[in-house]
Amino acid sequence: MDLSLLVENLAQVRARIEDAARRSGRGADEITLVAVTKYVEIEIARALVEAGCTDLGESRPQELWRKAEQMSDLAVGWHLIGHLQRNKVKRTLDYAGWIQSTDSVRLLETLEEQTDGRSLRLPVLIEVNISGDTEKHGFTPQELEGLLPRLGKFSRLEVRGLMCMASLTGDRDRAREDFANLRLLRDRLRPECPEGVSLEELSMGMSRDYDVAILEGATIVRVGSALFEGVRP
Ligand SMILES: *Cc1c(COP(=O)(O)O)cnc(C)c1O
Repeated sequence: MDLSLLVENLAQVRARIEDAARRSGRGADEITLVAVTKYVEIEIARALVEAGCTDLGESRPQELWRKAEQMSDLAVGWHLIGHLQRNKVKRTLDYAGWIQSTDSVRLLETLEEQTDGRSLRLPVLIEVNISGDTEKHGFTPQELEGLLPRLGKFSRLEVRGLMCMASLTGDRDRAREDFANLRLLRDRLRPECPEGVSLEELSMGMSRDYDVAILEGATIVRVGSALFEGVRP
């Protein structure tokens, strides 16, 4: 295992983020890099944190619990980025700082019930199935429109924005279209936001397309494999 390569990959990803941020008229500090550790073991995840990358994402709740437990000596902001079943909410809330992948009203209600006792509101993003892939989770744009006025009632959740994945089959051009569509949807719905609800954050872009996502307004990118190229044996 070559951890120096990990540091190099991270520097490269950060440089591309900075470049794309500049081209979109923003600074790199306006973009949050969430390193997706689902492919790698604790040792590599730890090395990432030690290299300064303190926001980590996992798509499976059990894997997030396991890593968070074994890394509890480090200051990590854990983001759940995959589907969360309601029977896993309680335990996930012990570890995750952000739930990026809220994809049903029932999940939002369960989160609201079970965040009881936390001192701060729980930051969440609403997942939108912007590409219309049938096998994907997330609200359709029409559903989001209906949901929006109801989001104000979740007093323990802090709705911060939207999250999406680009079409599973498309290329970078198709991905860019999906990202642009999420931003347009957000811009259109923003005036209808109830008090206490924000759509500021756009979590979009993965290894193959985080640069174009930033050009389309991403504020959070979720990058996995690009960080680990050549690192794993
Ligand atoms: C795995 C995953 C990522 C990271 O994917 P890479 O292509 O490896 O960068 C980002 N977002 C979600 C929701 C994922 O499941």
